[in-house]
Amino acid sequence: MSIFLAALLGLIVGSFLNVCIYRIPRRENIVFPPSHCPNCRQPIKPYDNIPLLSYLLLRGRCRGCGGRIPVRYPVVEAATGVGFAAIVGRYGINSSSLLYLIFFSVLLVLAFIDLEHQILPDVITLPGIPLGLLLGLLLPQARFLSSALGLLLGGMLFYLVAFLSRGGMGGGDIKLAAMIGSFLGWQRLLLTIFLATFFGSLIGLSLLATGLKSRKDPIPFGPFLSLGAFLSFIWGDSLIGWYATFLR
Ligand SMILES: [Zn+2]
Repeated sequence: MSIFLAALLGLIVGSFLNVCIYRIPRRENIVFPPSHCPNCRQPIKPYDNIPLLSYLLLRGRCRGCGGRIPVRYPVVEAATGVGFAAIVGRYGINSSSLLYLIFFSVLLVLAFIDLEHQILPDVITLPGIPLGLLLGLLLPQARFLSSALGLLLGGMLFYLVAFLSRGGMGGGDIKLAAMIGSFLGWQRLLLTIFLATFFGSLIGLSLLATGLKSRKDPIPFGPFLSLGAFLSFIWGDSLIGWYATFLR
């Protein structure tokens, strides 16, 4: 039951995350004015703003102008619903799951902004770094040291990669890695980087092989870091435990 409610809450929060994804890179206020159609700027009526359902009922078009509503809207709403359900299913309802709900929402917004604009805005990543440290202090299981090490390790590793690849890795990725380290601690940061590299290579190579992208097209790494971080805090313990069985 709580997982079902978490999924419903996720759909509603996802609708707000869509607003953030659209407005933050455009430097618009995320609260005011209320949602409007990106094509005709008409305000969206509350009954047309029901997550997923409205998109299906309106067949992906604005009621006012008939312009296409990007498929990103229902995708983000559904992904937030699934993510929230997974977090509550894994952690129950407590201070940890609240932290992960917020952290997941931030990661999702960053991933989709990076996909569309190839940027990871400082207004999100920079405050996220001290926030992760602060939560490391406040949470019952003291993880402050691990958070601080995660911050340093993430920042330094990605700074090194950015330096060696001469621009292949952006400054935004450095700050995102530092933020993930400060939220998850150094152990899960390493798992995040491993998963992100794995999925990034897999998708990158498939895009090249199918000719959808050429070598010159930039493939943003932020979405893979976000996905890796999500998988680490949902299945990190089982993944690390599974890996450790090979080392015995
Ligand atoms: Zn419209």
